Amino acid sequence: MADVSRFIAAGVRARSAYHVVAGEPAIKLDAMESPYRLPMELRDRWLHALRDLALNRYPSPEQYERVKARLARDAGLAPHIGVVLGNGSDEILQNILLALASNVTVVAPTPTFVMYEQIAAILGRRFVGIPLKEDFALDVPALQDALARHAPALLFLAYPNNPTGTLYPMDAVRALLDVDDAAVVIDEAYYPFAQASLMGAVEDRPRLLVVRTLSKQGLAGLRFGWLAADRAWTDELEKVRLPYNVGVVTATSVEFALDYADVFADQAARIRAERGRLYEALRAQVTVWPSEANFLLFRPPVPADAGRIHARLKDAGILIKNLAAAGGALAGCLRVTVGTPAENEAFLAALARAL
Ligand code: PMP
Repeated sequence: MADVSRFIAAGVRARSAYHVVAGEPAIKLDAMESPYRLPMELRDRWLHALRDLALNRYPSPEQYERVKARLARDAGLAPHIGVVLGNGSDEILQNILLALASNVTVVAPTPTFVMYEQIAAILGRRFVGIPLKEDFALDVPALQDALARHAPALLFLAYPNNPTGTLYPMDAVRALLDVDDAAVVIDEAYYPFAQASLMGAVEDRPRLLVVRTLSKQGLAGLRFGWLAADRAWTDELEKVRLPYNVGVVTATSVEFALDYADVFADQAARIRAERGRLYEALRAQVTVWPSEANFLLFRPPVPADAGRIHARLKDAGILIKNLAAAGGALAGCLRVTVGTPAENEAFLAALARAL
């Protein structure tokens, strides 16, 4: 292999690519996808909506404006709030970090979604992780202190958090929004399962950006995320966004999906109900943390067994996420996405055998 090291930035060389497990497990509970596909009667209508797309043309500004207006209207946003569209919310997070001044320090409570640190490292931005408390609660004074010390600072808060599932109390979050000279990104990837949101707060908080995705609610394959913030932010972020970053198939599918929001809301409600059942069943066997997302974090009675249990489940065709490598507070932890009732039953039975 060629030696390219002198061409590649140190921040890139030091990282590993985001790892996605290959293969098609019989039961896939590792990536917070929805277990539910588009209902059969909607699939024909969806295909019909795609039928007349002009694939020879780039996406049109009119379509982007239509999607943005629709998202803003559905979220009840005032006219001074702008929307930016992304190829997944990952791309939105990357665009935020690309647009930031290079002296900004990126702060996040940890453990959290790994891409905050990954993107910061790749782009050569300084990342400071502030440990969550032992029960994965926010350490508000430590975060306030970090934000004040590193001004200007950008805080990433996953609300609820991944991989813990924690929904931080609103008063703790608001205390962080009030830190002078800090901008805050609230990442609401798991919004459909928490039903708590800071979206409305963007209207009178000029340093607050809220990010959402359709990935967790049954549309992970589309790759679509969006951001809402004061237009002063979105005007700048539009300069960073690559032209045509959302393809016509995705944009048209998003417009289609927004017409059937009730279908996705119904699926999310089923997942929330299943999450409660799965939590109770897990509690009898392992340490499990309360979650307001579509997954549960748990630790087996013998934490050193996590790797073996993960492998046993995999042999049984059930893929969950092994967080052992993350170490620290996540040592010995595993994360399972909430599946269909049958998938959850199969997972629980296989877990009982593996324990
Ligand atoms: N934010 C959080 C907190 C996540 O957990 C994830 C996906 N695991 C994302 C953002 C990225 O989602 P996507 O790019 O699919 O929108």
